[in-house]
Amino acid sequence: MSSNGNGVHRIADARVADRVSQFPESVIREMSRVAAKDGAINLAQGFPDFEPPEALKEAAKRALDGGFNQYAITWGSPRLREALSKKLAAKNGIAATADDHITVTCGATEAMMASLLAVVNPGDEVVLFEPFYENFGPDAIVAGAKTRFVPLEGPDFDFDDEALKAAFTPKTKAVVINTPGNPTGQIIPKDRLRAITDLCVDRDALAVTDEIYEELVYDGLRHTSPATLPGMAERTISIFGFSKTYSVTGWRLGYTVAPKPLTDAIRRVHDFLTVGAPAPLQEAAVSALALPPSYYDELRADYTRRRDVLLRGLERVGFDCYRPNAAYYILADFSRLSDLDDAAFARWLSREARVAPVPGSSFFHDKRRGRSLVRFAFPKKIPTLEEAVKRLESRLLLGKVVAA
Ligand code: PLP
Repeated sequence: MSSNGNGVHRIADARVADRVSQFPESVIREMSRVAAKDGAINLAQGFPDFEPPEALKEAAKRALDGGFNQYAITWGSPRLREALSKKLAAKNGIAATADDHITVTCGATEAMMASLLAVVNPGDEVVLFEPFYENFGPDAIVAGAKTRFVPLEGPDFDFDDEALKAAFTPKTKAVVINTPGNPTGQIIPKDRLRAITDLCVDRDALAVTDEIYEELVYDGLRHTSPATLPGMAERTISIFGFSKTYSVTGWRLGYTVAPKPLTDAIRRVHDFLTVGAPAPLQEAAVSALALPPSYYDELRADYTRRRDVLLRGLERVGFDCYRPNAAYYILADFSRLSDLDDAAFARWLSREARVAPVPGSSFFHDKRRGRSLVRFAFPKKIPTLEEAVKRLESRLLLGKVVAA
């Protein structure tokens, strides 16, 4: 594969479709492989190095023994959709029925792809905030959308209202809203969400939300689902998932919530993409939704401690960090530590310090904006994070890194 630096990533075989040349392999997943090769602690890809709640694993084993081994209903197991309907009402303030509005997918990943394929016509425009979660770019490309980017800037990753308005054109079909955000580690505050959703109403655009980190919020903050804001219920596809809240990234379970006609369209795409999410794990997910409130309190308390250990460590070593108030990532500027570019620095860290981050440019369409940034993920045991900090200290406190 080769890249010409202009967003063209050609695979040298004429049989490959043009659309595939428009995006590279995932840099995040690539860094996971680099980390494995280097024997590095993988703080690149966002997955826990600890186990999910015992009750979930037990429920999955019971489901395997209990006859849930064939296709579930394409839209998702009825029991799970009923439980999700209750969860959405209680936690998100979203009124959604199992029959008409909820579709269980293979992770939030499939949910986003199925949603965009369901609503985007070739040539339609999709607005993304940048930095953005790496998948959103290829998702939009595969759906045939043209992307417009709104920069998030400053310590709070806020956007300029005029820049947002300018990104909306008569061709805008949808805006992707990721709150809490990856890689920003920020909740979008309610008044800033209103600025986005009011524009959606004004310009008759859809919002496709990625709320996979809804439970991972710190410092007493609360997540707001954009679908609950005025005028948004009928124009929002809300996406949620089990991966992060229940530490089951390998289970591949997510779901969409949308008005009926949009749900009908998403279900058609979902059916032909995957038929359905894993049946026994859908049954087990019902038990996840029955966990008591204390589970979520402990989850947040544990993640707050993890954030603090890594944040303090990175700052001690000389990174300038964006302090996350949500999700489980720290974006860190390494200008004081090295003149290398982000890709070279990330590989150097993996090889020499044996701690692997993600190069910052993978979160930007304008790659220059990520040149001095790397992203560290902290869904790890405290001892793993302490060991990572120790390794970073042993290599980085020695002086500026100048050569890869
Ligand atoms: N959306 C965001 C913003 C993410 O950060 C991730 C994983 O890192 C995903 C979606 C993937 O979710 P899932 O495991 O449900 O496919």
